[in-house]
Amino acid sequence: MYDYLIVGAGLYGAVFAQQAKASGKSVLVIDKRPNIAGNVYTEKVEGIQFHKYGAHIFHTSNEEVWKYVNQFAMFNRFTNAPVANYKGELYSLPFNMYTFNKMWGVTTPQEAMAKIQEQRAEIIGEPRNLEEQAISLVGRDIYEKLIKGYTEKQWGRDCKELPPFIIKRLPVRFTFDNNYFNALYQGIPVGGYTRMVERMLEGVEVRLNVDYLLHKDTYDVIADRVIYTGAIDAYFGYRLGYLEYRSVRFENEVLDIPNYQGNAAVNYTDLETPWTRIIEHKWFEFGKDEQGNDLPKTIISREFSSEWKPGDEPYYPVNDDRNGKLFEAYKEMAAREEKVIFGGRLGEYKYYDMDQVIAAALKKCRETL
Ligand code: UDP
Repeated sequence: MYDYLIVGAGLYGAVFAQQAKASGKSVLVIDKRPNIAGNVYTEKVEGIQFHKYGAHIFHTSNEEVWKYVNQFAMFNRFTNAPVANYKGELYSLPFNMYTFNKMWGVTTPQEAMAKIQEQRAEIIGEPRNLEEQAISLVGRDIYEKLIKGYTEKQWGRDCKELPPFIIKRLPVRFTFDNNYFNALYQGIPVGGYTRMVERMLEGVEVRLNVDYLLHKDTYDVIADRVIYTGAIDAYFGYRLGYLEYRSVRFENEVLDIPNYQGNAAVNYTDLETPWTRIIEHKWFEFGKDEQGNDLPKTIISREFSSEWKPGDEPYYPVNDDRNGKLFEAYKEMAAREEKVIFGGRLGEYKYYDMDQVIAAALKKCRETL
């Protein structure tokens, strides 16, 4: 008998397991994948830490979370500064003075602000959707070239049908600063995310390749409480209907050249290019191996966004009214499962960043353990 059965060895599950073990509880972690670390899983290919389920750049302003993760990994000084490629024109991201200069030829913050002021005049009142929010933040030119195509590819929906908050994730700055995040702390764990999660799970019993929902009855009886980090609708057998998710497919290539695109991330912001972005993994570690040697080859991943269907990996919850309401209904059902805590991006159907997942798990631990 265990105190806790933890379903899912991603960040939420790993934090909960680590904290539970540290407070003397007995814990079993199971995961249906053959690996720990969920979507932050990394593995070494050609000497490069390869982000198998998509690029993850750790960033946070939460002191507690930053101290917490630093117990398990050292973080390098990687700063995310993606480049946008719109039909061969390159722009700096996030939206800042370099972007404005390239778009309009303006050279001062005053000129850039005047340009945006003029273009945002078309939006009257509170922005009601992503399109209005984007135009009101950066004007129509930037919306058309750097936001519309990318967003519609990523979400498979018209920008008028998406909530404003998604675009508010990106900073808009009137300084020459290409740092994608406003966070106080940022970096990539040296040695990869998998090693970090391994260290979090040190001494914890982990069973991989175990599908909880297929063996629910067997597993439910071996623990007092269950921490479930899978999809909430799947838990209930989709009884009220499917929640929508976006899934991602990667086309990975090892290339026999040292440098493909000169940056970790290049976003393809037009609607015609079928992928949303290309990640060149070696630049998360400055193109070097752990001994500081230059790596001769490179790995790139083209990222294709698609609507989730049963059997795919869910990545992003789709935050619109229909899904919001359906999630609320599942949440009520979840509240009646007295033994079970639902957590994480899939369990809470929330567009969480890594640090927010960790903060949520630590909070839940304080309340429960
Ligand atoms: N976005 C955009 N153009 C870009 C990058 C992002 O319009 O070149 C928008 C898009 O709507 C996206 C949102 O900003 O869904 C959030 O992007 P972020 O990079 O935070 O997404 P994630 O890294 O979670 O995939």
